[in-house]
Parts: sequence; structure tokens; C-alpha cells
Amino acid sequence: MTTPKLTAFAAPQGGAGLPWGGPAGGLITLALSKGRILDECLPLLKAAGIEVQEDPDTSRKLILATSRPDVRVVLVRASDVPTYVQYGGADLGVAGKDVLLEHSGDGLYVPLDLKIARCRMSVATRADFDYASAVKQGSRIRVATKYTGVARQHFADKGVHVDLIKLYGSMELAPLTGLADAIVDLVSSGSTLRANHLVEVETIMEISSRLVVNQAALKLKQGAIRPLIEAFESAIPR
Ligand code: ATP
Ligand code: MG
Repeated sequence: MTTPKLTAFAAPQGGAGLPWGGPAGGLITLALSKGRILDECLPLLKAAGIEVQEDPDTSRKLILATSRPDVRVVLVRASDVPTYVQYGGADLGVAGKDVLLEHSGDGLYVPLDLKIARCRMSVATRADFDYASAVKQGSRIRVATKYTGVARQHFADKGVHVDLIKLYGSMELAPLTGLADAIVDLVSSGSTLRANHLVEVETIMEISSRLVVNQAALKLKQGAIRPLIEAFESAIPR
């Protein structure tokens, strides 16, 4: 028996008359996540000539029509965007670099840095924790994070032994409760850290959101997807 291999598929073509469909032969599906990515994408889409027809904040729909009959938006969890695009549930998507780095899988083409949802991935500790001494070669620290892949690589590069604790949210709590010495998390203004008496001790990398494209869809729907990538490109804030 052979195990079916999961490969990248292009999203099914929409069929006119189907509730989820569009004009036969060229429906383009764009995966976005609610919150800052959607909020910051709407002006980009508008500049690219695409307006979402419903108010995503009040509508409970997960599939949104746009002013372009051949383009629809699907709303998915931020960390699910690469998965949707990889397997062809969507042709394109917008995902944070943080999410893309933790996503393992191929079939994704990442043509553009959209320069939206900008923040940085940083190490933070309690103010009374001596991070500089703790990271000296040979020491061992406990780090709680949602980003175990990036954190593992970062501390390996520094030659620091690390025990990683995977969390899914409220990372700030970990150093306060003694669960961990440090956290690796996203920081923008730093106000959440400050409110929890944590200090940012090291920046790992700058983060922004990227346009991701299903490679099979790019080949099969070139005529529609290439111009869309170009439209996104000219809409990027400078
Ligand atoms: P969920 O909130 O559903 O658990 P999430 O935290 O991944 O998922 P968002 O908070 O909407 O979803 O974040 C989406 C993306 O926005 C992140 O992957 C990251 O790239 C970026 N981001 C996260 N936090 C910030 C921030 N404080 N400032 C700017 N951009 C951010
Ligand atoms: Mg969040």
C-alpha cells in the first residue's frame, strides 16, 4: 500500500451558480486573518482595485465577495494562512514572517514583503533577571514561547542551552509565575511588556507580513495572479 503524498494543489475553479463559486475558470481566493492583517490589508486591496463587499467586522461570514467578481477573500486563523495556501484552499494569502518561519512545508512562493503588521520578535525577561550573565556560554535557560522554531535557532546560534516551553498565548505570564526565565514574543510598542513588568533584552528579528502564493495556482492561473501580485506590489506603503 502506498501512502498518499500530500502535495500542493491549486484551489478548485469556481463554478457560476454555486454559492461559493464565481465566474467559471478563474476564481481567485485570498486568505486573510481577522485583526491587524485584515485591517492593514484592506487599504492595500483598495489601492489594488479590490474592495471587500461586506464589513468583515460585523459580518459572520467566512467567505467575502469583493468588487471583483473573480476575487474572493476567506477569513482564517493567522497561523492557518500558510496551510490554506500550501494545499490550495486559497491561491494567495497574507501571513506574518513569524507564522511563515514556524510553518514547515513547501509549495509556497513568497514574492512580496507587504510591510504591514510590523513588529519585532524579541526576548523579554523580568527586570530583575540577569540575562547577560545567563546567556554566557555553557549556561542553561528556560524560555517560553509560541515560536519554538525561531527560538531554538536563535539560542543555538548564540551557543546557549535552552529548555523551550511551548505556549499558545499570554506569554508574559511565564516569567512572572516562574514557568520560565524568558519569553520570545512579538513586540510592537512594548506596552504589554511594560504593563507586566518585563523588559525587552534582545531583538531577534524585524517582522512584517508577506504575500504568499500557491505555486501550482501561480502556474495554472498566471494570467490572473501575476497582475494581482503586481497590483499588491505597487500598493505597498513606502
Ligand atoms: P490569534 O490572535 O488568533 O491567536 P495571532 O496572534 O497569530 O492569532 P494576530 O494577533 O492577528 O493573530 O497577529 C497576526 C500577525 O500580525 C502576526 O502573525 C504578526 O505577524 C503580526 N503581529 C502580531 N502582533 C503584532 C503587534 N503587536 N504589532 C504588529 N504586528 C503584530
Ligand atoms: Mg494575537
